[in-house]
Amino acid sequence: MKSIDLTGLQVVALRDVETAAKQGATEVLVCSRGILTPSARDFIQRSGLTLRKQVGQASACPPTCTGCTACKTEHPAPPASASDLDRLFHSPEAEAIKAEIVNVGRKLWQRMYVDGNGGNISYRLGPDAVICTPTLVSKADLRPEDLCLVDMNGNQLLGPKARTSEILLHLEIYKAVPEAKAAVHCHPPHATAYAITDRVPPTCVIPECEVFIGQVALAPYETPGTQKFAETVLPFVKKHNTVLLANHGIICWADTVTHAEWYAEVLDTYCWTLMLAQQLGAPISYIPPEKASALLDLKKRLGLPDARHDMKECQLCDMPDMPGAIAMAPSSCAALTGTATSEDVEAIVKGVTDAVMAALGQRK
Ligand SMILES: [Zn+2]
Repeated sequence: MKSIDLTGLQVVALRDVETAAKQGATEVLVCSRGILTPSARDFIQRSGLTLRKQVGQASACPPTCTGCTACKTEHPAPPASASDLDRLFHSPEAEAIKAEIVNVGRKLWQRMYVDGNGGNISYRLGPDAVICTPTLVSKADLRPEDLCLVDMNGNQLLGPKARTSEILLHLEIYKAVPEAKAAVHCHPPHATAYAITDRVPPTCVIPECEVFIGQVALAPYETPGTQKFAETVLPFVKKHNTVLLANHGIICWADTVTHAEWYAEVLDTYCWTLMLAQQLGAPISYIPPEKASALLDLKKRLGLPDARHDMKECQLCDMPDMPGAIAMAPSSCAALTGTATSEDVEAIVKGVTDAVMAALGQRK
């Protein structure tokens, strides 16, 4: 085994690991506090290199710790130097991400998902480095040089313009969901119409929406730009990649900026289609639960989150969300499988009664 020591680098980029591989390395040793760029990480995985993190010396540990080797604690990274950050922010992959963000911004504006200076886009470039859009710039006019670099606490590190105030929302998602690399927040009119009426669209209607989004969550209203607002999505983001923000808009996360924008498109088109269908006056026909289950299997294979992954087949589809319909959560599968006991029947009757009473209460 040949190990190449890269612990002197605060930022380990693709070319550093490529050079190590050319020199015959089978292992690269990096500083546990350093930043590994996404393409460097990908290269390490692809080429089968072993990645070893250097554990700090006991003397480097704070007094409460008995030493990194003994306590196995990874201490928080000290701030990277200005030149390291500059190198990261202007690396070829960061430039490619910036171009992608600019492109996605234009798509959002063209589809009328953002208005004025609304909406924001971000990408997690490293453990403590996120590229994001600036405030007060229309997504139609965005240029790569307008973009900002912030740390995971929202402190601006680089960029000539002030960062979006909504970055706190994106950062909460990155902290909660390791798979989330990119986030897009926008105000698409049809999805936002659901968000201002406290409704979520039903499931089991259109396969594309089932696979890419599935159940949509609804986060309660809070004042935009605040930490309290940012935290409203926390109960949902692990099991939902798309969340409606009450009286505001939507947020989507994904592995790439482009994919996060796709989810916004899929959701808004879905909400729009549901609204058109409602105007036809005929009930929506739903995908049968056994077919919905096949879609969820596909989704699992794609590694996409869904709050229904652990549910039984008969619980997968929501009740219709049509005007006049009475929504009731599927509480028991027994009735559908023909194994209902008298307690099950009693529970179902009680559920229906509660749902009817709640609906009557809403219509007063
Ligand atoms: Zn907004």
